[in-house]
Amino acid sequence: MRRAFSLIELLIVIAIVGILAGMLMPALSTVRALAKQAACGSHLGQLSMAAISYATDQRGLVVAYWSPSLNQHWTIHLAPYLEQTWAWYQPRNRLVKQYRCPGDGGGDNSPYLRSDAATLGYWVTYGIHQMASCYYAGAHWGKYGELTLRTVKDRGRFALFGDMNCKAWSQSINTDWATMTSFRHRGRMQSGFLDGHVGSDTPTTYGTTWWDSYNVTPAN
Ligand SMILES: [Zn+2]
Repeated sequence: MRRAFSLIELLIVIAIVGILAGMLMPALSTVRALAKQAACGSHLGQLSMAAISYATDQRGLVVAYWSPSLNQHWTIHLAPYLEQTWAWYQPRNRLVKQYRCPGDGGGDNSPYLRSDAATLGYWVTYGIHQMASCYYAGAHWGKYGELTLRTVKDRGRFALFGDMNCKAWSQSINTDWATMTSFRHRGRMQSGFLDGHVGSDTPTTYGTTWWDSYNVTPAN
């Protein structure tokens, strides 16, 4: 005949299960974080490839934060290359998964979204490099003229998109203000480069990586 568990034995089993769960939880959260980092890398790779396709169709023009000549934002220009549609103020922009980092906390409460994201339909937590905003007439980088694949000296060292804190700054990433970027992948930010590869940086290394993107030939 089988003997029933005593209370002491039951408590010991519960304690052991609790200890095992406590050991597993950090491992599980690490796995979850790594999965989000990988998914973010996939998004950045898709954004980079979309930008390369866009440039090919636009005689080499690198997509801009906002281009007066084409009068629109990079989110509009790249959407067709991601088999998506995107327009200002549209609730369906939520469905464009490539514009959101899976590590941004999700939903409308992400700390990295603009505070007016819901009004604008701007569910975007990636930023584009400041060099790609140089189409602004008279802007700081306007002296370089239009940025094209030809004027970029090393596409493999040109970080175009990256994990961004859109709440801190809604426009573009540069090397001066680390608050613009978001080191949300276990202390690292990820970047998509103009040759299609994806990299990651710490707060210590990202400045050098993003500084390399200023290595372009002035068009005029
Ligand atoms: Zn990310």
